[in-house]
Amino acid sequence: MNPLKIVFIALGSNEGARLEFLQRAVEEIQKKTGDVKSVSGVYETPAMGFEGRSFLNACIAVDTRFRPHKILKQLLEIEKKLGRERKTGQGYQNRPIDLDIVLYEQEVITSEELTVPHPEMHNRNFVLAPLADIASEVKHPVKNVKINALFDTLDKSGLTLTSEKLQLPKKFSFSGFNYIAVEGNIGAGKTSFATMVSEDFNAKLILERFKDNPFLPKFYEDKSRYAFPLEMSFLADRYQQLSDDLAQYDLFKDFVVSDYDVFKSLIFAKITLHEDEYSLYQKLFNLMYKELVKPDLYVYFYQNTERLLENIKKRGRDYEQNIEADYLANINRSYLSFIKSQPGLNVKIIDISELDFVKDRQHYLQLIQEITG
Ligand code: ATP
Ligand code: CA
Ligand code: CA
Repeated sequence: MNPLKIVFIALGSNEGARLEFLQRAVEEIQKKTGDVKSVSGVYETPAMGFEGRSFLNACIAVDTRFRPHKILKQLLEIEKKLGRERKTGQGYQNRPIDLDIVLYEQEVITSEELTVPHPEMHNRNFVLAPLADIASEVKHPVKNVKINALFDTLDKSGLTLTSEKLQLPKKFSFSGFNYIAVEGNIGAGKTSFATMVSEDFNAKLILERFKDNPFLPKFYEDKSRYAFPLEMSFLADRYQQLSDDLAQYDLFKDFVVSDYDVFKSLIFAKITLHEDEYSLYQKLFNLMYKELVKPDLYVYFYQNTERLLENIKKRGRDYEQNIEADYLANINRSYLSFIKSQPGLNVKIIDISELDFVKDRQHYLQLIQEITG
């Protein structure tokens, strides 16, 4: 999963219902590329370099996890979907929609298909005027000059700010939730999803600190010897982490999202421990559990075993590589029977077998909708 980056995209239309094309492009970018954070005013300029109707132009700022080349591909798809046909022949042509990458953070890219910053942006008042609305203080990484300063140097004749407005797309909201736990089998994608949600919706993130557990590699080597110390140390860690993190109210965050729930301890312990060990473990668990804040939503990601094994292989943690299909199937059954035994828990079981929410933003948004809807 890539970190969030900001990309500025210029939109133009000089054919058909121009404003509508700009607005539809904004909606499509929101679905495919990332969260549209701001929209500029809508400007009008005469067609330059060819005979044609005047242009409406705007710029938007988008938070994205995609790399520039991928974004270019998405923009070309959107142009096509909105009916742009690329006619062979030289020069500029009328177009219902044109989408250009203007800036991608402070990155400089020169490849055959893509040049960023856009090579003509500093010469174009119809790019710099809308860009200055939303990024006046941002620097052009090659010229090392702020956008408003670049715009100041340009001739503004022919450029007019219209009274038309682009709307920000409708966004999903997690209002009403205080604490969401994301659960699922080993390799289901809990951590990626919880991290994305925390970044995109301003939530405090609580991640399981399994990496530090010294018993985990040993456990996969010799299960019956190391199961008890492993489960005990997990329980102690999870309890401590959750009681610390949930007690620390963060004024600047809207809710909490975690990539595990403390019940996980019981579910795994039941599988890994001998019966007598398990009943001792359960006593301790119940004492600790009473003290903890419970999630108001428990999301369970169901993923088929084949894909789990693929994911485990892909992330390549040495000690996980020998996990067997049976073990995963057993964990899944245990989660489901645990969920059934908890009528008080607000659960959403979501089958993510056909989804790839890291690669495909539409899948991600589909999940967000299921969770918040
Ligand atoms: P201009 O680039 O002068 O604004 P245009 O937008 O009319 O011209 P198009 O026909 O839409 O040009 O695009 C031609 C190609 O430009 C695209 O297929 C793409 O590969 C390439 N290109 C290079 N840099 C960029 C960029 N920053 N944003 C979008 N397209 C780019
Ligand atoms: Ca262009
Ligand atoms: Ca273009």
